[in-house]
Amino acid sequence: MSNIEILPARLANQIAAGEVVERPASVIKELIENSLDAGATKITIEVEKGGIKKLRISDNGKGIVKDELTLALSRHATSKIKDLKDLEGIASLGFRGEALASISSVSRLTLTSKPKEQDTAWQASAEGRDMKVSVQPAAHPDGTTIEVNDLFFNTPARRKFLRTEKTEFNHIDEIIRRIALARFDVAFTLSHNGKMVRQYRIARDKTYYDKRVGLVCGQRFLEHAIKVDCQHGDLHLWGWLGKPSFVRNQNDLCYSYVNGRMMRDKLINHAIRQAYADLLPLEGYPAFVLFLTLDHREVDVNVHPAKHEVRFHQGRYVHDFIYSVCQRALQEQTELLVPETGE
Ligand code: ADP
Ligand code: MG
Repeated sequence: MSNIEILPARLANQIAAGEVVERPASVIKELIENSLDAGATKITIEVEKGGIKKLRISDNGKGIVKDELTLALSRHATSKIKDLKDLEGIASLGFRGEALASISSVSRLTLTSKPKEQDTAWQASAEGRDMKVSVQPAAHPDGTTIEVNDLFFNTPARRKFLRTEKTEFNHIDEIIRRIALARFDVAFTLSHNGKMVRQYRIARDKTYYDKRVGLVCGQRFLEHAIKVDCQHGDLHLWGWLGKPSFVRNQNDLCYSYVNGRMMRDKLINHAIRQAYADLLPLEGYPAFVLFLTLDHREVDVNVHPAKHEVRFHQGRYVHDFIYSVCQRALQEQTELLVPETGE
């Protein structure tokens, strides 16, 4: 009698889904990252009932050819890396080849796509225990649409962890704000239950960056922000630092990015908090939008399945760079506030 068996594809994918698909907002994050990796400049997000009933992401990216639709829905299938060498200097947001397989194992997912060079669009969905993919012709402009219905309909344990429609929608809204800050060069629209909620237009030049930051973080933040922009070797840090006078009672405006990827990284947060250390009350949080760019080979993004954290090869060096740039900017700001004891 044999005890060990290979799990059916759907079950294996559902287990993997546990790592990346926590709630509708995490589905949206994965799907938008795919659209960005496909070079989209316009991404439309439609949500029904907090995303629990329906999520639809449409993009004008490069699309997926008909013969690869099945692969796109399979686990460990990716167009973004080929070998270990690629993994060591990853420039795309995705690389694990798991998102579509995972999401389609815990929802009713359809993938519709039309690459420019293909005359018609095709639609794919995975069915049954083995997640066999069926493909049929469809109508769709150049680009890709992924529709996710009834998230967690077949995984009741997961479904139980979903909160109210309003809470789930707030998580989605927050993800969209985070991503909108990462890519000023992409237009995003978000609608909920048929109503447009957010609209971010493409930034034609840098002056528009301020506008988007104001839309996402509020005009008051912008009025109380110091701009930083500092390059040292291949480290570059730029963005907006809220003045200490703009203190928050929660960390709701802490946006940091590494090579365009949104982060919740301990090392980065620590460096920034340290720069504010003596300038904020003990229970106060700073507000900031900061972008760090460095050589892709200097940072390992394959640390966490949801890729919120990274590992820097020279962690101390990166930490001190962020700290000193922020500290100097804040210091100069405070000095400006000291009343002149004039001659
Ligand atoms: P990963 O992003 O890690 O490669 P995914 O499961 O998210 O894995 O996607 C699998 C593959 O499907 C991607 O590598 C890409 O080739 C293709 N793909 C997914 N979404 C899109 C999209 N919106 N536009 C074009 N290609 C896509
Ligand atoms: Mg992906």
